[in-house]
Amino acid sequence: MREANVFPTYRGEMEYVCLGCQARYPIDELHYTCPSCKGVFLLEDTRFPELEKTPGSAWRDIFDLRAATKNPALRGIFRFYELMAPVVAEEHIVYLGEGNTPVTRSSTALERLVGQSMAFKNDGQNPSASFKDRGMACAYSYLRHLVAKHGWDNVLTICASTGDTSAAAALYAAYVGEPLTSVVLLPQGKVTAQQLSQPLGSGAKVLEIPGVFDDCMKVVEYLADHYRVALLNSKNAWRILGQESYAFEVAQWYDWDLRGKVIFVPIGNAGNITAIMSGFLKLLRLGIIETLPRIIGVQSEHADPVFRYYDQDPGHRRFEAVKVRPSVAQAAMIGNPVSFPRVAFLAEQYQKLGGAGSFAVVQVSEQRIIESMLLANRHGHIACTQGGECLAGLFKAKELGLMEEGELAVLDATAHALKFAGFQDMYFHDGFGPEFEITPDRKLANVPRLVIDQQDKERLSEDAFTVQAAQNVVGILGLDKK
Ligand SMILES: *Cc1c(COP(=O)(O)O)cnc(C)c1O
Ligand SMILES: [Zn+2]
Repeated sequence: MREANVFPTYRGEMEYVCLGCQARYPIDELHYTCPSCKGVFLLEDTRFPELEKTPGSAWRDIFDLRAATKNPALRGIFRFYELMAPVVAEEHIVYLGEGNTPVTRSSTALERLVGQSMAFKNDGQNPSASFKDRGMACAYSYLRHLVAKHGWDNVLTICASTGDTSAAAALYAAYVGEPLTSVVLLPQGKVTAQQLSQPLGSGAKVLEIPGVFDDCMKVVEYLADHYRVALLNSKNAWRILGQESYAFEVAQWYDWDLRGKVIFVPIGNAGNITAIMSGFLKLLRLGIIETLPRIIGVQSEHADPVFRYYDQDPGHRRFEAVKVRPSVAQAAMIGNPVSFPRVAFLAEQYQKLGGAGSFAVVQVSEQRIIESMLLANRHGHIACTQGGECLAGLFKAKELGLMEEGELAVLDATAHALKFAGFQDMYFHDGFGPEFEITPDRKLANVPRLVIDQQDKERLSEDAFTVQAAQNVVGILGLDKK
């Protein structure tokens, strides 16, 4: 077992590759987008063919052995070090407990209701309660590597966020400390109270802008163009790398056999779905898996530019940003996803290797999203609204005839349910404005019921109050005496 703790000796040679003009740049500078064409980057390890010399079965053994490691540097997303950012030294890896999140098979009752085998992977069980920690662990580890290399004495990290990116960025910055400091830009009133409390609690500077995420993003990009800041939005290719670990973990959980698995992912800025596709493609290239799982992206009717793109005739597709409308899947409420070029690039490769049916995007209603979240959580899950969006996507995929009997749907619960408790509350209390297009079903409402009132508390003795309260409970529940 000791071998599992030994840090890998392999070192890659990584480069930024621009998806717009194919230009390549060294990684020893902070690049966010291509300096010549503004395109988005993917990171490539030019020594990857070296890794292909090791058989897939040997890789499976290495990763399985490391699953038991006590070395914190290998315990999280860097368990897959060679496929992650194999330029970072052991002492620069930041580990806060991210990754290795549980895959929970749904109960028989829920599967019967849905009519499909299904499981949630609970990425809300990450340190800041969303999958964004995967990307931040990678981005901050790389930043520490760069800081050490250049001897920088001050680096400002900045991001625009629908809530969870800022929570994750602020957490990792707070842990790493000097010389990193963290600034986050949020759309005023468009993140939940829980999400806002996170960067505030971590001590980040929190700046608000009236508008939606897309407005914040423009400000952040302006800053990145003109000032020296480290941008941590999902255009940052290091974050995409870290998020690939989701795919690696799914594969490992199913013993590297992904036949008959369909992965559902909500799409906002489209960073996560590209990371997951890229991750599975890497595993296939190394022979670690033999079959690509199918991937189905899900978007709300209120923020659906990627769906609209794939809904057009192949060959005549044109990408157009949309103006978003209020959505309970607020963390994915993005009209102009920055990673769209990555989706187009990777989906094409994915379909080439996995067949035409291996990638699809479906669109779901707000009503379906929130009710799917409630349904999941009433069956023992802890899904956020975006997790609900995945289940809504599964219902939609079934209606469209996209699911085969016997397939297992793996749904991404991208954040913890508690972050979105406010939307549940709005549903239970009929608090949605007409712009949400959600009509709560009274039968699904669950509200606390007061058993005995304050006046009785004041009037009765302590013992009499207890007996009276208990009697009232008996009445409500209709309990039989033993
Ligand atoms: C960021 C986020 C998303 C959207 O992911 P993208 O990578 O932007 O597509 C979905 N759900 C939650 C909870 C998020 O925080
Ligand atoms: Zn370029």
